[in-house]
Amino acid sequence: MTDITREMFDQYYFPMFTPPQFVLVKGKGSRLWDQEGKEYIDLSGGIAVNALGHCDDRLVETIREQAGKLWHVSNLMTNEPVISVAKQLVEETFADKVFFCNSGAEANEAALKLARRYALDKYGVEKDEIISFTQSFHGRTLFTVTVGGQHHYSDGFGPNPTAITHIPYNDIEILKNTISEKTCAVMLEPIQGEGGIIPADPEFLKQVRELCDKYHALLIFDEVQTGNARTGKLYAYMHYGVAPDILSTAKGLAGGFPIGAILATKEVASVFTPGVHGTTFGGNPLACAVANKVIEIIKQPDFLDGVNTRSKWFFERLNEINNKYQCFSEIRGKGLLIGAVLKSEYEGQSAKLLKAAIDHNLLVLVAGKNVVRFAPALNITKDEFDAGMQKFELAVEDFINSHNNK
Ligand SMILES: *Cc1c(COP(=O)(O)O)cnc(C)c1O
Repeated sequence: MTDITREMFDQYYFPMFTPPQFVLVKGKGSRLWDQEGKEYIDLSGGIAVNALGHCDDRLVETIREQAGKLWHVSNLMTNEPVISVAKQLVEETFADKVFFCNSGAEANEAALKLARRYALDKYGVEKDEIISFTQSFHGRTLFTVTVGGQHHYSDGFGPNPTAITHIPYNDIEILKNTISEKTCAVMLEPIQGEGGIIPADPEFLKQVRELCDKYHALLIFDEVQTGNARTGKLYAYMHYGVAPDILSTAKGLAGGFPIGAILATKEVASVFTPGVHGTTFGGNPLACAVANKVIEIIKQPDFLDGVNTRSKWFFERLNEINNKYQCFSEIRGKGLLIGAVLKSEYEGQSAKLLKAAIDHNLLVLVAGKNVVRFAPALNITKDEFDAGMQKFELAVEDFINSHNNK
């Protein structure tokens, strides 16, 4: 494999991604290594995916064992891992039923189709409006990208799905004036991830639930990013005491093995009868065995306490760095989904700080142009954390200096 070079990526791959000038070959915990053997600290978690870090021994063992037994049988058959993980998710959440697919976008696509079908069957063709929020992100299929509130992602692909309304997040008065008996669903992220790590106001979520009930609209929570213990509870809705009718999740669900899921009440799920929706790979034993193991681990109260402890490390250290360098206006988020918002004098420069971090062999994320995002492994060790934050401080120092020298 050593004849593989970074240049070959530009030669052979679609030009939609621009990775840095190294190729990663190995990972363990929150550390990664490139072809040259250079070590990186990973505070990005593969964009909130590597819930247990890289190559967690328990997941490696699980996948090895399942790989020797059964990979795929199609949904004409069923298998043990899919039943097992569905059972766990139902027991741990508001939901009665689970459906598995392969990604966040697919989960949201299914959630939206489910909401439309439920409204059609129960109330008729008039009830088709979907309300979602500006800055939201729900995936890249044409339906999900259109429901997402970022036009630069959804424009340029010909006619988009219709009957979709975008309104500002956390503004209940505007929702009150928008929602009606024509509304079939309201879709939102309990904490907007890609949009800038913006948590929902608890009172807002409560009233969204009440308005949905009043107008017989389904409430869909997109927990693709906030789910699976990321925020310190198994799902973020549990912080708010507001349950949705449909919940979508993916990212961390199998710790890096591709999987997505929707969870729903029995009543709502009942309209997905044979032939209405489907998938080839969804619910395959390999992905489900890994997800089953992940859920088994992350649902434990001790594990969730650990996420909250680590969250405190991050908030404390980031505030300390900020006291020294004064570059952030706010550190926000929940659990291990954290955003550091750049002060107005550094507006639009989050990518530059990310680049400075890479120069110190540190991987972080951005969430829009003004927010640096951290979504590390939920089991990151103190040692890995300290090493990462030391690098982050150096990156912040470089970033500030380069700004002052301009
Ligand atoms: C990442 C993300 C998605 C899309 O998931 P994919 O697996 O990339 O399709 C959808 N919604 C939210 C909130 C996300 O963070």
